[in-house]
Order: sequence, then C-alpha cells, then structure tokens
Amino acid sequence: MSFNFKCTNCGENIVIHYMKPGESITCKKCGCKNIVPDSNSTQVDKQSELWVSAPNNKTDTSSFKKYPALYSISTILKYVAYIVLILSIGVLIYGLTLLGTYAKTLAITIISSSIYFGLVSFISFLAFSELIKLFIDIEKNTRK
Ligand SMILES: [Zn+2]
Repeated sequence: MSFNFKCTNCGENIVIHYMKPGESITCKKCGCKNIVPDSNSTQVDKQSELWVSAPNNKTDTSSFKKYPALYSISTILKYVAYIVLILSIGVLIYGLTLLGTYAKTLAITIISSSIYFGLVSFISFLAFSELIKLFIDIEKNTRK
C-alpha cells in the first residue's frame, strides 16, 4: 500500500511505497531528510492513486508498441467513420435542397441513399474500429 505525507521542510508531497514507518526518506524537492510517519496517521489521496494506476498505462503502451499497425488502422477507421458521416450529412442537406425543385424523385433518392449508406458505413467503420481495440484488449488480458 502506498501513502503520502508532506515534507517537514518545504511542504512537498512525498509518496511512499514499500517503506516502513520510522525509515528516513530524502525529499526530492529540497533534499531534506524526513522520517516516514505511521501510515495509519496519513490519508491515501488521489496523487498516490495515480501512482498506483501508472503500471496500467505502461501495459497500454506495450500493446501499442506490439500492434502499432492495428492501433493506427483502428484510429484511421474511426476518422473515416466520422468523415463518412459528415459527407452523408452533406449529401443529405444537398438532397433536401433539391426537394423543392423539379428533381423531386432524384432528391428523394439522394436523401434515402445518403441516410442508408451514411448510417451503414458509419456504424460498420466505427464497429470495426472498436472491434480492433477489443481484440487488442482481449489479447492483453489473456497474455498473463
Ligand atoms: Zn522538502
């Protein structure tokens, strides 16, 4: 368990892992020696929780290094999904502007196909992007 306390000299937060109360620790900021207080007298705050969660971020980076192509594809697919969505909204608006004109049949065709293809491709691109991440996560969790 980790906990922290304030430096007696400068007030800097000192985070402690695997140290017993009564041992001395040097403050990183001022170099002053501090005696580790009893862990029961101090509170575990957000800063020490961040320290604890740090190894998890490390695992993510290792997966990223292991599958850089998959990560890139996943990210690209996500962008493509949004580009497709924006494009189909653009086509949809274009179709709507045609509605009031003589080309009503063409307008309806444009509107319906933009909604259909826009939604289908947006969902499939996004789903595929998430699926790649899911596979990486599954691989990561089953590695241990
Ligand atoms: Zn200090």
